[in-house]
Amino acid sequence: MMSLCPLIMTASLNDVKYIASETKPERLGTSTAEIAFVGRSNVGKSTLLNALCRKDLARVSGAPGRTRSINVFLAGKDQWLVDLPGYGYAGGRAEEIVNWGPMIETYLTGRPNLRMVFLLIDAKVGPTKLDLQMMKWLESKKLPWRAVATKADQIKSSQALRQRQDIAHALGLDPEELAWVSSDKGLGIRELRAEATALLE
Ligand code: GDP
Repeated sequence: MMSLCPLIMTASLNDVKYIASETKPERLGTSTAEIAFVGRSNVGKSTLLNALCRKDLARVSGAPGRTRSINVFLAGKDQWLVDLPGYGYAGGRAEEIVNWGPMIETYLTGRPNLRMVFLLIDAKVGPTKLDLQMMKWLESKKLPWRAVATKADQIKSSQALRQRQDIAHALGLDPEELAWVSSDKGLGIRELRAEATALLE
């Protein structure tokens, strides 16, 4: 039904709610707009989502049991933030690891309203082989992606410029195209929150 009130369509990261965990992406419903978050395990994805939403989303979603599934959070009427399971995880059961690729690929290639994939890279570690593989795969599928360097507080300010340049270069980007954030120190969070909100409008 068409809404007469434009405010109802407004995305907001101020009151994000957990709505679903799913291992079968075909079963997910539809959104009007969504942003997906990907990155290797331990890159700081949960912490970043919490910082962007100013809320303990892991607690809300009942993780840790949900670290191997696609977690969906509602940010507005039908706008979603989608937390994809981290890659490069050595722990899980063999069948979970085998299922990871197809699950993520089916999700990412099956979402008509996917506005952006935030690809998280550890600022100190830099892009790993798997990060580069993910980036190339996103490119090959012509999916919109945005590089976000996490844990930037771990880089000394004297080295930050150089490290940002090196990471951007490895990803084929200009340094200013690489978001540079620290969830712990709040660096770049306000800007990324504004960007995410605008993408969901
Ligand atoms: P995930 O596996 O990608 O969800 O990663 P987590 O959000 O659980 O973070 C992994 C580890 O990195 C935890 O020990 C966090 O406390 C730490 N971490 C996350 N964000 C930051 C940050 O901005 N700065 C620093 N120094 N550590 C962080």
